[in-house]
Amino acid sequence: MTIVRDGVDKWACFHCPGGCGETIKLSLSNNRKPKWTAVPDWLKRPTISPSVRQTNECPCHFWIRQGRVDWCKDSRRSPSRTTK
Ligand SMILES: [Zn+2]
Repeated sequence: MTIVRDGVDKWACFHCPGGCGETIKLSLSNNRKPKWTAVPDWLKRPTISPSVRQTNECPCHFWIRQGRVDWCKDSRRSPSRTTK
């Protein structure tokens, strides 16, 4: 996970943990929508809220809490290779 800062936190960038290989870029800046907040704990592990849902073919839905991926129940996280 990379937090891009330019004075203020701008983006949280990380690879999708669902296996699709997509780079997820969450906006942390106040004047964009949707926006997320990334709050680091004392070990600088970020907790992201709200949860992250992929809008591509990858059906990931997860929280990031203290730098760890916390899967939501409705996430079908196994990387599927089925054709559409
Ligand atoms: Zn994915």
